[in-house]
Amino acid sequence: MSVSALGTTVYEVVTHHGHTYLVDVESRECSCPDHTYRDARCKHLRRVAIEITEGRVAPPGHLRVSCAVCGDPFYEPTDALEPHLCRQHALEPGDFAVDRETGGTVLVLAVSPRRADEVRIPAHDCTVAEYASNRSYPPDDPVVSAVFPTVDVTNAGVTPRSLRVYTFPLTRLALPTK
Ligand SMILES: [Zn+2]
Ligand SMILES: [Zn+2]
Repeated sequence: MSVSALGTTVYEVVTHHGHTYLVDVESRECSCPDHTYRDARCKHLRRVAIEITEGRVAPPGHLRVSCAVCGDPFYEPTDALEPHLCRQHALEPGDFAVDRETGGTVLVLAVSPRRADEVRIPAHDCTVAEYASNRSYPPDDPVVSAVFPTVDVTNAGVTPRSLRVYTFPLTRLALPTK
């Protein structure tokens, strides 16, 4: 039997004999004759439950996706927005991240599904991927925008050291190790 997740609570089961049944794990219903006529908890329901428990198919409401950075597969909620990022590469707005090139800390503002070789840096008339210090990172990395969260405090008040928003290829930034 092969089981595939449809991204809801319904799973498609194809048997060895080539029959296709739909199993709903929430209502515990299956479209097979066994279940329909005898109201038994059929083998298809059991099989889907096992596949989910053992992590071979996505849990209800999830789909299998690939990390936009490393390509590793994992399960995301069906309505999750791109880019899909595995635990190791997940950066979110509000995260502090370390710039691998300078060692500086940045505050992440946005993670875009657009690629580094698509997004331009107007001030330098090149793409994020073409910018000199970004060339050793994959050109298809998602683009992350961030600011340097540093301020100067003087008697005159508090001034941000820079109000510029910078763009980075995602893998140039690393989550700090805690
Ligand atoms: Zn069944
Ligand atoms: Zn990854």
